[in-house]
Amino acid sequence: MVLLSAMGAAVLESKVEYDYYKYHPMHEITNWMAQLLKEHPDVVSIVDYGQTYEKRTISLLKIGINTGEKKKAVWMDCGIHAREWIAPAFCQYFVAQILQTYKTDPKMELMMKNLDFYVTPVLNMDGYIYSWENSSTRLWRKNRSPGPSGCDCYGTDLNRNFDANWGTIGVSFNCTRKDDFLCFLTIHSYGQLVLVPYGNPNFTASNYDELMKVGLAAAHEIWKVHGKNYTVGSSPDVLYPNSGSSRDWARLQGIPYSYTFELRDNGTFGFQLPENQIQPTCEEAYRGTFNSAVATAVNLWTILFAAGVSTLIIWM
Ligand SMILES: [Zn+2]
Repeated sequence: MVLLSAMGAAVLESKVEYDYYKYHPMHEITNWMAQLLKEHPDVVSIVDYGQTYEKRTISLLKIGINTGEKKKAVWMDCGIHAREWIAPAFCQYFVAQILQTYKTDPKMELMMKNLDFYVTPVLNMDGYIYSWENSSTRLWRKNRSPGPSGCDCYGTDLNRNFDANWGTIGVSFNCTRKDDFLCFLTIHSYGQLVLVPYGNPNFTASNYDELMKVGLAAAHEIWKVHGKNYTVGSSPDVLYPNSGSSRDWARLQGIPYSYTFELRDNGTFGFQLPENQIQPTCEEAYRGTFNSAVATAVNLWTILFAAGVSTLIIWM
């Protein structure tokens, strides 16, 4: 009897599943990352790559099949803006999905052999923690660094200050890996938009047509899931002009496919998207972002194909 109940408890314990359809505070997300590393040591690693103003370590999940070859990469970050809770929820869902599908889906396995995914579930950890403190801080957007003395403008908007801040939040990426990144996806809310570079109305990306084509295909994939309309375009065309965003920074660094995804909704709940919308939002956003990553991969494999690598036919 004792043995049985002990075993029962053990089974129960191992079956406790992470709830992807709830919002999680920072410490739970950190534990979740450690758990993934434990469960998938062959394909998951954790890379510490920066420090927040309040001295927390910023970490990302690197996910891919180690082939011993130099691989190309896809970047995804969530939670630059503290109050956009659906973004970290989506990053977690995205990771769970790719880890679940690669073992059964040959396309996904091929992706994981040719690409590494670098996913930062919460980039602005200080701000995220602050937004969880109480209802009066729930809508905090920026980080938690004090503004200049004599100014009550506490916090820096990390997404309007990218040149200046990247040195502290992405040193290793900046110095060593930027040529390997093909696709840069930064996840925000809200507004249901797929934004392409650039935020400055006086500049157009050299591959604007291609960016729009892939973006529109992503929006169509999104629409097919739950019928939600996402608008595609540059920020000045569909929203408002801005500067210093990570999306623009990434494109300027030479990463060909760079997008901001603004997830649900259109303003009914805004940043406080109810938990019962996490699942549908993640399902549709997964189709959209994954489609962008596939387009990136197909582009890569087209290049490889030209060089005579024949495994690509599977994809065509
Ligand atoms: Zn945002």
